[in-house]
Amino acid sequence: MKSIDYECKFCGRKGTAHYHEDAGVENVEFWKSLLACNRCADFHSARLRLFRFLTDVCTHVVQARTGNFKNREELETRSREILESSTKKLCELVSNFYRLTNLWSNDFVEVLMERPDAAWNSLEFYVSRRKKEASFRDVAAQLP
Ligand SMILES: [Zn+2]
Repeated sequence: MKSIDYECKFCGRKGTAHYHEDAGVENVEFWKSLLACNRCADFHSARLRLFRFLTDVCTHVVQARTGNFKNREELETRSREILESSTKKLCELVSNFYRLTNLWSNDFVEVLMERPDAAWNSLEFYVSRRKKEASFRDVAAQLP
């Protein structure tokens, strides 16, 4: 077993990874640059899963609006319900990760229903805004 010291590609936390000599790892520096700590890796994979799920639901909203469905209203209502529960999950995930108060508002669902085609961007905007909030809080905590 070989070990390599690395810095998490997301938060910079130092860690040590292990790999087997026979694993055929050649470009260690390259692989090192891809490594993340467990906390960040768990967060980012859960975030990605929710992003994909939410954008899938939004794609169905677009299809329901452009297609010729008899049950369009029912599809909209059901999509809205799913978006509500899933955006709540995303808010909780992001708030826990950045150690922020979990604030969910129905506006989140409204934004997605208004522009379902721009769902991915809206989700990224939300996460980056919460990340910024956390960094402002951290900077403020260091002020005298
Ligand atoms: Zn990390």
